[in-house]
Amino acid sequence: MQKFYVIGIGPGAPEEMTIRAKQALAEADIIAGYGTYIDLVKPLFPDKEYLQNGMTGEIKRCQLALEKAKEGKTVAMVSSGDSGIYGMAGLVLELAQGMEIDVETVPGITAAASGASLLGAPLMHDFAVISLSDRLTEWDLIVKRLNNAAEADFIIVLYNPRSKGRPDHIDRAREIFLQYKSASTPVGIVKNIGRTGETVILTTLGEMNIEDVDMFSTVFIGNRQTYIKDGKMITPRGYLEKKGNHQ
Ligand code: SAH
Repeated sequence: MQKFYVIGIGPGAPEEMTIRAKQALAEADIIAGYGTYIDLVKPLFPDKEYLQNGMTGEIKRCQLALEKAKEGKTVAMVSSGDSGIYGMAGLVLELAQGMEIDVETVPGITAAASGASLLGAPLMHDFAVISLSDRLTEWDLIVKRLNNAAEADFIIVLYNPRSKGRPDHIDRAREIFLQYKSASTPVGIVKNIGRTGETVILTTLGEMNIEDVDMFSTVFIGNRQTYIKDGKMITPRGYLEKKGNHQ
């Protein structure tokens, strides 16, 4: 059966792509994906055939790529981070049903993981990942999840926090969080991870500047135990507290 890879290429830097992802890309005849991600892969594989189109042409892009696979080509579809986390893996698997194509997903480092390591160790306890994009999800449902996650004192990671089409979603999320979390709750904003312009901002829920957040940012909101010390955002897992060994 014809092979079709759906590959998470990690946040951006080539050294944060897995060896398995590189092997799958090397095997492919055609590499498909959104232009920004293709640009990250092209320097590593300049001689491949590329199939790219805009951000919102996902269905068309997948259908074209699957057609190429039916013609007998080995295709690799790339997503940033992990392809199964707000990536293309789900859509490819849905569209490939009944097509006799062997879809293999190759995991990658998602922005929650790469961003957390730049901040310190904010995700040491239970956390919730929420996308603020209402392009495919009702805003009311997003609001419900923001409320429930904040009430349950999850550490919260926000993907798609802000774009031109939804400039105020991050502010609305912040207002919801402030109903459950104190204004001094640590917030980490990580932009362009592994890419030119990589930026790390440490602030609080009360003081965060919405203008610092864009569509290439991932935002981390701490739980009640999270603190910032020496430039690191840390959520204690509880080891020291358990020993009665408070710092
Ligand atoms: N599949 C991707 C997520 C795609 S959704 C993953 O697993 O990481 C797009 C959102 O992901 C962006 O709005 C941003 O919140 C986050 N993101 C993806 N790559 C990023 C990067 N290099 N730096 C910061 N945030 C990133």
